[in-house]
Amino acid sequence: MMGNRNCHIYLSDIPTGESVYITKVLGHGAFRKRITEMGFVKGKKVKVIKNAPLQDPIEYEIMGYNMSLRRSEAAMIEVEPIIEGDLQQLFHYEGIIVEETPRMRGIPKTKRINVALVGNPNSGKTTLFNRVSGSHERVGNYGGVTVDIKEAVVKFESYKMNFTDLPGTYSITEYTPEELFVRNHIGEKKPDVVVNVVDASNLERNLFLTTQLIDMDIKVVIALNMYDELEYKGIDLNYHDLGLLLGIPIVPTIAVKGVGLVALLEKIIEVYEDQDPITRHIHINYGSMIEESIDRIRAELRKNKELTDQYSKRYLAIKLLERDQSTLDRLKICSNYESVKKITESEIRRLEREYKERSETVIADAKYGFISGALLETVSPKKRETLKKKKNFDRFLTHKYLGFPIFFFFMWLMFQTTFTLGAYPMEWIEMGVGYLGKLLSTKIPEGTLHDLLIDGVIGGVGGVIVFLPNILILFFFISLMEDTGYMARVSFMMDKLMHKIGLHGKSFIPLLMGFGCNVPAIMATRTLENRKDRIMTMLLIPFMSCSARLPVYLLIISAFFPKHQGLILFSIYLIGILIAVLSALLLKNTVFSRQDVPFVMELPPYRLPTMRNTLRHMWHKASQYLRKMGTVILVASILIWALSYFPQNKELLAEYDQQIAQVELNETLSSLEKEKLVLALELEKEGTHQEQSYIGQMGKFVEPVLLPLGFDWKIGISLITGLAAKEIVVSTMGVLYHADFEADDNSHNLAVKLQQQVHTTGKLKGQRVFTPLVAFGFMLFILIYFPCVAVIAAIRREASLGWAIFTIFYTTLLAWLVAFAVYQIGSLL
Ligand code: GDP
Ligand code: MG
Repeated sequence: MMGNRNCHIYLSDIPTGESVYITKVLGHGAFRKRITEMGFVKGKKVKVIKNAPLQDPIEYEIMGYNMSLRRSEAAMIEVEPIIEGDLQQLFHYEGIIVEETPRMRGIPKTKRINVALVGNPNSGKTTLFNRVSGSHERVGNYGGVTVDIKEAVVKFESYKMNFTDLPGTYSITEYTPEELFVRNHIGEKKPDVVVNVVDASNLERNLFLTTQLIDMDIKVVIALNMYDELEYKGIDLNYHDLGLLLGIPIVPTIAVKGVGLVALLEKIIEVYEDQDPITRHIHINYGSMIEESIDRIRAELRKNKELTDQYSKRYLAIKLLERDQSTLDRLKICSNYESVKKITESEIRRLEREYKERSETVIADAKYGFISGALLETVSPKKRETLKKKKNFDRFLTHKYLGFPIFFFFMWLMFQTTFTLGAYPMEWIEMGVGYLGKLLSTKIPEGTLHDLLIDGVIGGVGGVIVFLPNILILFFFISLMEDTGYMARVSFMMDKLMHKIGLHGKSFIPLLMGFGCNVPAIMATRTLENRKDRIMTMLLIPFMSCSARLPVYLLIISAFFPKHQGLILFSIYLIGILIAVLSALLLKNTVFSRQDVPFVMELPPYRLPTMRNTLRHMWHKASQYLRKMGTVILVASILIWALSYFPQNKELLAEYDQQIAQVELNETLSSLEKEKLVLALELEKEGTHQEQSYIGQMGKFVEPVLLPLGFDWKIGISLITGLAAKEIVVSTMGVLYHADFEADDNSHNLAVKLQQQVHTTGKLKGQRVFTPLVAFGFMLFILIYFPCVAVIAAIRREASLGWAIFTIFYTTLLAWLVAFAVYQIGSLL
């Protein structure tokens, strides 16, 4: 009854609220693969939930969870209306084939078990990992938050279990870097037991990955996580029978509450010791046609002893039928590569002729058929409770008219709270630092060590640590948005706009994270599936003004723009965004003018995060910041101090000291006049000394390039030191301008010192360095130029050395041009 219609209807034509069956997926390559693993296959029911506020993308419900697709992508899915009373079983279920020969692995049993966690994004792997290991990795309710692998050793019974939290994937193809990573980890590291974390409330799609693990012929334990949600949904699953069918033991868990974890650990040991009664090697029966093809390819592969000892032949054969390029490449070393390739091609042709579908789709359909059949045998739905409350909530947050205002309100609230609430603890820390400085300066005798500690360490690090509260609050908000699932909705709403500048809705999250710190933001681009999107997003992130740049703005604004503080700050952030948009358009029309990838994204259910998780998450980010303070910033502060302290021109310093002594002895002067003269001499001494120091020489060296921007050599020095980390700009200024954190009154604080600076060389000699124009240009320069060493290193790691070098030149050149334009045009007006 399916497929014999002449005029086709497409998913994009279906109005909100209606449900249809999928009859065919058009398109090819990445799009098709992606859409398949998310469950858009023949015979599945889809419901149109709603349009994004800008009418695109569209939210759909499939297999009981929510997905977003762009309109243009939904137009590639052929559908058919659901006919009342039409209860046909659309899937093909052949059950399993049990391997007769027992597996002989021959791995010597040690007391160390390597366990890898594998599962869909958002299935609770990281939560489970944290619970099991007692560690503090971040958890997020946003697809792909786990971008780095984490490891932890857990001692349980007589075993040492080595847990690895792998990135979340929907399947194990070669489609995203995460998938390749997981695949290589399983293939090369050969974990003893793989724990497949499965979201119980989303079984149908989650088991798709499980079918691939079955193909791989490895030891697996299923953690049936979110068992609470399954119960809440009122689904009755006989997981014991399902386990029997899959040949994989299933342990129900509720990771957030730590329920079922001991049973899970026990099961892992049992499976490792080959004691588990359920574990057996099964084959999914793909039907006689496909099985025949698998057999033929397998027979050819069997001729390669070395290779097939490492991988299951059946697995390789299935991968070949799926047109998996990296499997084919891996086989290149085989002597019979050509004939493997030939047989594969002819089998693919045979299947495609028969099924009139691409072979990858044929296999995926068979996998889903198997899952549907297995679930039909083991699931009996009880009364289904509607999750009305959450739905109403969502309707509000992604509402056509209210969606964006609500989002901007959250953004405003976030920044507002960050600064107003942060001001109080900031004051306390400032006082503490001042007190510490005073204490130390009385305890430690005058000399090099005194200067090092007071000026170098306390002056440098102290100037930066005061921003910790701001950063904590900002991270708290970002963590909260991630944990609740709101971030995914933001991507959903933003996709249309992001698409206009050649990006993907998902790029929005890394960009937003960039306001916290560019480094994790660059790492978060891994959640994007396509290299073009990843690189483009990475190149734009540095223009998202990170929190490290904030101290510089706050300092400059407080010194030179006392009237419109908020407005000026906002304008800096806005200019950053504007530059990012213009850069995106430039890149879109030059380097990256190719086609973009589908916007197939899961919209995870809203979850109320536990305060514990969110605080943990926040702390994780903040501790990275603290670590940076203790290492990069501390070392840089000392280095900068040393560069500005040495070489010591003893004669010159002695000369000044002599002059000062003479003034003090001069009987004809009043004590007030004396004080003035001494101060002037001391400042001159400091200035001359600094000019002759190593750092002064470096600043002088770059000054000619900076003079057209109105910058002097001291600014040059700050910019040089800012290469290490932007926070250091403030601490450098603290050291360079001898800001006195010991002083009680404000007369010595850094802002005032900055106001007093005058040019000491060139044609501007004698004039004030910082006019509001220069100050603004300086902030823009800080915003735009070379982000920091860590960011460049991250780009090098995530993209390539070439892109890292490109970023260095692109940002710095742009910064110069913008600051130049501001200063020159501003001076004319
Ligand atoms: P990962 O992407 O697989 O690492 O998933 P996470 O560990 O980041 O978890 C995703 C979300 O699911 C978080 O909001 C968790 O708090 C939540 N979560 C994890 N396990 C459970 C569970 O057993 N029950 C419920 N209700 N929520 C859970
Ligand atoms: Mg995770």
